[in-house]
Amino acid sequence: MESAAGAESNGEHEIIGWFEDVSENTGYVQTQTLCRILELNSGVEYLKKWLGDINVQEMEASALESLYTSLVPLASHADLETYIQRIADGDTSPILTNQPITTLSLSSGTTEGRQKYVPFTRHSSQTTLQIFQLAAAYRSRVYPITPGRRILEFIYSSKQFKTKGGLIAGTATTHYFASEEFKIKQEKTKSFTCSPEEVISSGDYKQSTYCHLLLGLHFHDEVEFITSTFAYSIVQAFRTFEELWRNICSDIREGIVSSRISLPKVRKAVSDIISPNPGLASWIEASCKELEDKDWFGLIPKLWPNAKYVYSIMTGSMQPYLKKLRHYAGDLPLVSADYGSTESWIGANIDPSSPPENVTFAVIPTFSYFEFIPLYRQNQNCSSSIDDFIEDEPVPLSQVKIGQEYEIVLTTFTGLYRYRLGDVVEVAGFHKGTPKLNFICRRKLILTVNIDKNTEKDLQSVVEVGSQLLGKTKAELVDFTSHADLVKQPGHYIIYWEIKGEADDKVLSECCNEMDACFVDQGYIVSRKTHSIGPLELCIVERGTFKKILDHFIGKGAALSQFKTPRCTADEVLLRILNVCTIKRFHSTAYG
Ligand code: AMP
Repeated sequence: MESAAGAESNGEHEIIGWFEDVSENTGYVQTQTLCRILELNSGVEYLKKWLGDINVQEMEASALESLYTSLVPLASHADLETYIQRIADGDTSPILTNQPITTLSLSSGTTEGRQKYVPFTRHSSQTTLQIFQLAAAYRSRVYPITPGRRILEFIYSSKQFKTKGGLIAGTATTHYFASEEFKIKQEKTKSFTCSPEEVISSGDYKQSTYCHLLLGLHFHDEVEFITSTFAYSIVQAFRTFEELWRNICSDIREGIVSSRISLPKVRKAVSDIISPNPGLASWIEASCKELEDKDWFGLIPKLWPNAKYVYSIMTGSMQPYLKKLRHYAGDLPLVSADYGSTESWIGANIDPSSPPENVTFAVIPTFSYFEFIPLYRQNQNCSSSIDDFIEDEPVPLSQVKIGQEYEIVLTTFTGLYRYRLGDVVEVAGFHKGTPKLNFICRRKLILTVNIDKNTEKDLQSVVEVGSQLLGKTKAELVDFTSHADLVKQPGHYIIYWEIKGEADDKVLSECCNEMDACFVDQGYIVSRKTHSIGPLELCIVERGTFKKILDHFIGKGAALSQFKTPRCTADEVLLRILNVCTIKRFHSTAYG
């Protein structure tokens, strides 16, 4: 085994050097990236419709860029749906790309309750490998790790299935974990995952979680860091551990996998790795008893003493899990992972020591052609049916301004042209010529009854303030969602909370009032004052409700690796689960 890495390896040096180069002259790099995309896909049906028969190869690069942005319209997923559906149904003509598309990914359906197909190509896995290597190189400058050791990764593939036309469909993470690039990443970053492929792709997230924990403990002194795609999965895994640690201990003691692991392939793969280890089992048992007395504070450094940090996406809709993650991580640094989507990777966290609350993402200008729609908060009197932003004309990456909010527009190698991603970002600064973005929220307005407009971020802030009152008791917020109830008049907001521990009704009622009073949107305040929006309702759901919601999505093909609890829902099945599981209701008296 090599000695602890102090000096940067050649590979790390090389990839950082490459990124420094491409961030130098982003205007040029972006124009070249667009030309390359258009050359590769010249003559495809979608582009022909807008660009006609122009000869892309013969045009000067910046003239082509101007022509492209003036002739090809901005598009949403709905505009591309019929094209993608034809691909899914087996039409192999060049519709969106010249390269045949053999795989489709499922993207962000959890927020809207419906999953969307997005083309996936080899390029998608290659950029995943590239951004992971880049981020790992920057991380190892700040938190060097010992090469050749392990990562405890809470990663999960969902089931892949075939579309009507025979294409493989699944989540982007699923495709990536099954790809050659996932293996190459381990070799290149010299860090190996604790769990074998059979565990990652078991298709049963409960069995996978159990095995990840078991194997993570088996290799406990080799683990250099702990990670998952989204922070939710780490929190979910350690909540499971609080309940099941005795079983895991006994498996380690006996060297026999618990009967709760029923999938033969998984049983075999894990059994081949573990062997009886009473010494380790006794140490885990003693550690867990100590941890239980501290409500599991510092669980990660206690059980994985050589772990250097915890690494995962902790921004956006993952922020509500940060508090619990910090609790488990004790004094270990939390490093927020990169920013991307099924459609394209966007930016890397190149300042790993910055706390997750302040993290920014440096855009990688070779991954896609990026445009930015400037967004301005509307003055209170204007009303828009979409949300509370006014839009300006899109600008190229090289023209974004610090402090300005934008919606991201992508033109990708996988055949999306001027595609609105629906994410709101703010430019926080620059790394050389490339912007560093703050993720703000999903653009889609989530809570609205009449003239009120509240985004996911607004809701998150309100819930954060409201749940602080739980600190008065021994309870903590596990998860939450919301719904704008328009059935009863006047319409009102319902916020659903799952809590762990006991909180008396007086405190919960205060939480309810506090949240109602904390929405700062003028539309909401005015409507509440005039009673055109009814009192906010807080519903407490029984323990395990959000697990049922997770199971519902997993059943529909979502993967735990990409799961994000929907923060607002109008989905009938979900509302039924929430309402059946509601055990207490409170109505705000904040506005009298
Ligand atoms: P999906 O393609 O289903 O995995 O979801 C992609 C979406 O997840 C993005 O459009 C963002 O809204 C969100 N997302 C991805 N990475 C981050 C990040 N680092 N911080 C906040 N939100 C993120």
